[in-house]
Amino acid sequence: MVFYGRTTTYRRQSGAGMRFLYCPECGNLRPRGWFFFTKRCEVCGNEMVKFNVPMTKITPFYYASLTITFVVLALYLLNYEIPYETGTLILLIALTMVLAFADYTKSHYIAKEMMRKKKEEAKKLQQES
Ligand SMILES: [Zn+2]
Repeated sequence: MVFYGRTTTYRRQSGAGMRFLYCPECGNLRPRGWFFFTKRCEVCGNEMVKFNVPMTKITPFYYASLTITFVVLALYLLNYEIPYETGTLILLIALTMVLAFADYTKSHYIAKEMMRKKKEEAKKLQQES
């Protein structure tokens, strides 16, 4: 139930990008979802830093795809007269999964870059002082 977790996370931060947790001790990076109960790093046990990644270009498409899929699925389950075939529904679900994966991969990449820059800045400050 990856989608359920993703949707819950998104709703909580009201439409912003994905939320990540970062461990400054060992560099462990992971998304923050409902399935992670603690803010402790599972590698070294330190308190992790929470930060937001800006929305990617894929996010709106993912939302749109998810909404359409849910509507079609609801109509399908309610046995309304729908102009779609089962194949369309399966295609929509597949598209949503691909978009969710692409969005997550992109967000994770951005998060990694953000942390790399932060580290470099911290290093520079240490060298200056
Ligand atoms: Zn750690």
